[in-house]
Amino acid sequence: MFISSTRSTALKILRILWPLPITLIGLMLATVIRATGGRMEKHGIAWEAFAGAASTTLWLMNPWANIHAITLGHIVIARDAATAEQVRSHEHVHVQQYERWGFIFPIAYVIASAVALCKGGDAYRDNVFEIDAGIKKTD
Ligand SMILES: [Zn+2]
Repeated sequence: MFISSTRSTALKILRILWPLPITLIGLMLATVIRATGGRMEKHGIAWEAFAGAASTTLWLMNPWANIHAITLGHIVIARDAATAEQVRSHEHVHVQQYERWGFIFPIAYVIASAVALCKGGDAYRDNVFEIDAGIKKTD
């Protein structure tokens, strides 16, 4: 019982530490969002930052894609409260992927997009991490 509990606690700590470098980047962006009138709320396994400069932040990350939300470690950045609620279960799958892959998850994600493109698919819709998070694959 004690060993099982200790092991469980150690795994929880590892799940937080392993993606921590990316979580810290998300936390810096969330701080900017908070400083510009946005909000930050804890929902389940992640903190969500939305409103304020969130839309501008998402646009600056990729002006060509219409990003509504992004997960950076244990931080989810969403345009507004309604979007955060709408994408919560999807983004929480990405948080779990970060807990599994750690700080190398962004690299694995880009590789998965490249593989999808090489197969003639879409970099987003045919990315295995997005499919795992519930996005419908293109036909
Ligand atoms: Zn996604």
